[in-house]
Amino acid sequence: MGEREVFSMAYIIAKPCIGVKDTACVDACPVDCIHPRRNEASFDTDIQLYIHTEECIDCGACVPVCPVSAIFALHDLPRNWADYENINAAYFVRRAG
Ligand code: SF4
Repeated sequence: MGEREVFSMAYIIAKPCIGVKDTACVDACPVDCIHPRRNEASFDTDIQLYIHTEECIDCGACVPVCPVSAIFALHDLPRNWADYENINAAYFVRRAG
């Protein structure tokens, strides 16, 4: 598997989600690739929501429902939040571990 297959992702949840975790995006996502859901054990302790690196189908449905505009297509991710590409990916590596 090449690096792009492991780390590429279509949409990223960035800093504005921290402490908000509204979850409107979770409800809007047609492939259920945003975690944690409210009913997951880690919801209270995870500081933000994250988009799964490989499951996102690049539909954009999550973007307009976010009340704090925390979700960006990778190519639109503000440079000062570039770390969030890896932050989203690393979350799912931890979950899988
Ligand atoms: Fe889910 Fe679509 Fe948002 Fe990807 S872009 S996280 S598939 S709603």
